[in-house]
Amino acid sequence: MDVASTPSPAPLVPGATAPGAADDAFPVVFDDGCALCPRRCGAARDRAAGFCGESSTLRIASYGRHFGEEPCFTGAYGSGAFFFSGCPCHCFFCQNAQISLPDGLGHPVTDDQFHDMALRLIAEHAVNLNFVTPDHVWPHVEALCRRLRDRDGATLPFLFNSSGYHAEALLDRALATCDIFLPDFKFCSPALAAEVMGDARYPEIALRALDRILGAKGFLTPFDPSGTTPAREGLLVRHLVLPGHAEDSLELLALLRREFGPLLPLSLMSQYTPTPAAIRRGAPWNRALDPTEYNQVIDAAESLGFENVFIQPLGSIPPGPAATTPDPFLPDFSSAAPFPGNPVPPPFPAS
Ligand code: SF4
Repeated sequence: MDVASTPSPAPLVPGATAPGAADDAFPVVFDDGCALCPRRCGAARDRAAGFCGESSTLRIASYGRHFGEEPCFTGAYGSGAFFFSGCPCHCFFCQNAQISLPDGLGHPVTDDQFHDMALRLIAEHAVNLNFVTPDHVWPHVEALCRRLRDRDGATLPFLFNSSGYHAEALLDRALATCDIFLPDFKFCSPALAAEVMGDARYPEIALRALDRILGAKGFLTPFDPSGTTPAREGLLVRHLVLPGHAEDSLELLALLRREFGPLLPLSLMSQYTPTPAAIRRGAPWNRALDPTEYNQVIDAAESLGFENVFIQPLGSIPPGPAATTPDPFLPDFSSAAPFPGNPVPPPFPAS
């Protein structure tokens, strides 16, 4: 899709400023009746937080050059990632629960500060700007992207790094704004989706989203697993294999193969770590993934003929319950450097 040829979409929130509708459409304004995500909780976010836990004020928990993505998104200098506070999904095992749940960690930032942070990452040669689960803060993100492209002439790709749980109107706007799409496809079973995030509609919503993204952007390109030539555009689907639910992963792979063919780029992740909330749920959520479960899923991907698949090394699965085992994939957002292996994040701009 030629982004420049995409018609300007309508505002998502009744009464909201349509980002980019006018040259000076900053900062973004929220108004009554938020419908940015499929919860459609209708919160008046200029006055109160919605189900996602966030008001109209943008809060960012961490930002910086991030090496925790697949190599095609990090290249030599890292992905310029923004981790936002709040989330519409509320998966009970969320690995980012410190920031994703209501009243989670985060710094309020203005749109001008957000812009300064992005310019800093660009100056540090980040290979893309990576917006992690951005649906509930989308007006801020879209405004930033338009400002960077239209006023600053930024050419690096914008990466929509998401849950797969999207309102269609928002997805249209994201497709008109971002270049790379990295959605999860979390579950195939509506019952499992209902158990984990309280919305049995997730599988159909995520499948529709994949179809829409693929139609607009195609498969990830270039697909260079070494990261020597970072991706510029297109779709890669992520799936976290869950303990005790390998069967769901097998059904999900069969569905993806049927719908999108063997060239669909995939990342099959093994890094599930039981958080305190997951441990309280009991088995099977209170343990790490068993390598035999993960191998079963990898073998299925191979049998189905998928050609472009990222696999996490089995050695990266923490042995036994993570309650007693430190996990390198579980960030600590209360720390000045939440992700081991990343450069120390830059400071937040002074208010
Ligand atoms: S983004 Fe937040 S406030 Fe808006 S509909 Fe979703 S949960 Fe509600």
